[in-house]
Amino acid sequence: MSELERYSRQILLSEIGREGQEKLLSSAVAIIGCGALGTVIANSLVRAGVGRVRIVDRDYIEPNNLQRQVLFDEEDIAKGLPKAIAAAEKLRKVNSQVELEPIVADVNPDNIERIIGDVDLVMDGTDNFETRFLINDACVKHDIPWVYGAVIATYGMTMTILPHRTPCFRCFLAEMPVPGSTPTCDMVGVLSPAVNVIASLEVTEGLKILMDKEEELYGRLLYVDVWTGNLEQLELGKGDDPCPTCDLGQFEFLEARAGSYLTTLCGREAVQINVRGEVKVSFPDLAKRLNSVGQVSFNDYMLRFRVDSYELTVFPDGRTIVKGTTDEALARSLYARYVGL
Ligand SMILES: [Zn+2]
Repeated sequence: MSELERYSRQILLSEIGREGQEKLLSSAVAIIGCGALGTVIANSLVRAGVGRVRIVDRDYIEPNNLQRQVLFDEEDIAKGLPKAIAAAEKLRKVNSQVELEPIVADVNPDNIERIIGDVDLVMDGTDNFETRFLINDACVKHDIPWVYGAVIATYGMTMTILPHRTPCFRCFLAEMPVPGSTPTCDMVGVLSPAVNVIASLEVTEGLKILMDKEEELYGRLLYVDVWTGNLEQLELGKGDDPCPTCDLGQFEFLEARAGSYLTTLCGREAVQINVRGEVKVSFPDLAKRLNSVGQVSFNDYMLRFRVDSYELTVFPDGRTIVKGTTDEALARSLYARYVGL
């Protein structure tokens, strides 16, 4: 299939044209988080012909994802595929000319600079503030544009950050909200059309950046409620105080490299345990050890172990999601007992 034919309907647009298409074909994007927003973003960017698309996600697919995460299906769940892998497999069938780079990993201070270091643009598909502050630090430090997006219930918002040229995420939100103080999708739900609208706005901004049309960016935070039809635009300015990140160059989230991190996953009765350093778990060996104590299954990407009312999902790098508790101490002890890395 010729490129001209594949992309003819967007080349016809004066906003894109041949020149814009050429730029898209030779550009690279990292999408951090491949859930609701991330799947819509990945789908649009790959169809639009962005040359290289890296999809980073730490999670596997669950039945309650299918309502809004457009790249996944029941078969992916049956196969126990991580989101990044399933998304890449689906999109390779859509556009084999795009270089797809799925990465199954938790984005953290240790790996984010490697993940975003060689791309032109970072797209936010995450569901938490901690990762967004981390993205902001890394993108400001390396001068890489990124597009923020968030959705909850029936509304969402987006803004675009060009480091040192527009206010950054930290200019907009000085401190991380206290955990538990902001609603999450698991508490109040999320309407799929709201996701699609915000992801589409994010992608549109992303395409402009990749085509060097920065003067056409919205230049504002956009807020949309798809239920009420309410649209708002917020002018973004910088406060009187210097921003620690983009004015003072203090990258506090990036530099928080101490310890192994424990993350309680967004309202899912689950705790994630990260392992520091280079680890390569042998699933056949681990399965052999666990076979006598519980129910084990594994594929190339993850091993799943059920014991009592808990389910442990182990990834090749040792990272483990313990489901069935939000008690970090208990999760640690289950991890030590069964995985023991
Ligand atoms: Zn700033």
